[in-house]
Amino acid sequence: MSDWDALNEFLRIDPRDIGCDLALDGLPAYAELTAAGGHPEEVFPGLAAHLKSCRACSCDHEALVRAIREFGGDDLG
Ligand SMILES: [Zn+2]
Repeated sequence: MSDWDALNEFLRIDPRDIGCDLALDGLPAYAELTAAGGHPEEVFPGLAAHLKSCRACSCDHEALVRAIREFGGDDLG
């Protein structure tokens, strides 16, 4: 029943998920909010949904948050 597995996999994707391209655009601001102890998932719900399902972008997000905490966010971007 691998067809059903594939369908279930597809249905698990959050409809709010904005996809990698848009996620990468918003990631710096999202990471700044995360590092500042804010609630970025309330400001960028689509990005939050994407980070839950995309390993690559969630890794980028973690790296950005770490960089901001270590070096400050002012001279990023
Ligand atoms: Zn992604």
